Amino acid sequence: MDRVVVFDTTLRDGEQAAGGMLNMGEKLDIARQLESLGVDVIEAGFPASSPGDFEAVKLIGREIKGSVICGLSHANPKAIDRAWDALKKVKNPRIHIFLSASEIHLSYQLNKTRDEVLTLAREMVARAKTYLDDVEFSPMDASRTDPEYLCKIVEAVIDAGATTVNIPDTVGYSIPGEFGGLINTLVTKVPNMDRALLSVHCHDDLGLAVANSLEALKYGARQVECTINGIGERAGNASLEEIVMALKTRKDMMGLDTRINTKQIYKTSRLVSELTGFVVQPNKAIVGANAFRHQSGIHQDGVIKRAITYEIMDPRTVGIPSSSLVLGKLSGRHAFRQRLAELGYALSEEDLDRAFASFKEVADKKKEVTDRDLETIVAHEIHAVSETYHLNHVEISCGNNSIPTATVRLIREDGQIFADAALGTGPVDAIYRAINRIVEVPNRMTEFTVNSVTEGIDAVGEVLIRIESDGVTYTGRGADTDIIVASAKAYMNALNRLMSVERKDHP
Ligand code: MN
Repeated sequence: MDRVVVFDTTLRDGEQAAGGMLNMGEKLDIARQLESLGVDVIEAGFPASSPGDFEAVKLIGREIKGSVICGLSHANPKAIDRAWDALKKVKNPRIHIFLSASEIHLSYQLNKTRDEVLTLAREMVARAKTYLDDVEFSPMDASRTDPEYLCKIVEAVIDAGATTVNIPDTVGYSIPGEFGGLINTLVTKVPNMDRALLSVHCHDDLGLAVANSLEALKYGARQVECTINGIGERAGNASLEEIVMALKTRKDMMGLDTRINTKQIYKTSRLVSELTGFVVQPNKAIVGANAFRHQSGIHQDGVIKRAITYEIMDPRTVGIPSSSLVLGKLSGRHAFRQRLAELGYALSEEDLDRAFASFKEVADKKKEVTDRDLETIVAHEIHAVSETYHLNHVEISCGNNSIPTATVRLIREDGQIFADAALGTGPVDAIYRAINRIVEVPNRMTEFTVNSVTEGIDAVGEVLIRIESDGVTYTGRGADTDIIVASAKAYMNALNRLMSVERKDHP
């Protein structure tokens, strides 16, 4: 078999990463995009871990028909029952059970003997099998597990009915030759290995997640677990786009295919970055802003003469928009809709109206509106949260010899208007203080980032902030040609999220 099953865990391992909290609508948007990307399996969450995860798995399972929908579960009966509860109406469901296997985990965390773990693994797979056929099992910390014992567990769970066995390098400790060797051991020593699909799940603590995954494929693994932009616990997971493009570009060496529609890669990467707030580093392979940008004169000369001189992949293969500039302030609604369609966005009339209004606002201030600007505008309009307070007016006075002063006016959803002013150590501080005087929701800011969406002095600035309240993190985003205004929008966005969650919890 020369096809690799792509298992995406952006919504589980990726979301688990600190601060990556996504709301239900955002998870569904990502799941829909993963389906268009052609992901075989979507790990949608961990139903027993929280009511939010339970609902997310259920909702994604109801909406997405083109991919297998997987729910993660501890190796305990209640968690498995709960996973099944979330998955029972799904067209193609999978339960993924994990249980520690390494000596380190057994003695310091689980307090169980090897025999007890072996029995539990077998029983839990058998329990899941009473509900559905598609059951995956992961011996956690497999790369630090005694290979002989690992073979025994794998054999036992396949015997109990596991259809996929996943070998995780949970702590990102393995190096390629070693990890490939481990896969080879399993393929050659486990007598019933041919009855299950062998999978790997690699972490990037040593920057080797993709290399380890490819090495495992070389020795017979046929499922890779990965995430968009490589997000995930700590240093993250193996990146989907890197694995897929390595297989495609070096088919001569690997001889393996995936079902991924690579033209959707760039859009998926942008969406995940936008919604999680995890910025993609410019030099990131495949999807970074500089991944296809040639700086050296010799390289530029070569690429102009013949792209193949310095380009191993055509940027269009991963769906990077080819034209960099199309629209300006004279562009009409039709051209706007057309360009969005070319970028892969099909908006409802209502979203289009709002996005077009924002576009006109930007185009008034900025001569050239690029594709990146458009994507930012669209992302902010279609992922808008319901607003408890709307930012109606913000005014700032600051400078080297003045005390930063902000005046804000907010409109509450019932139509009541509030205005206030505050001093701060800087303009952003002053705005936040003025807003706080009106909204009065205690919170602590944990992150503040300003990014320029495009080049040039008139670029749109995008502000990302995270605030924390009662141990929960809320992400807010705002974009504007004025970064102070963008900061105010981002803060309102985070506050509105916080308030909408609080309202659901305490109606
Ligand atoms: Mn993981």
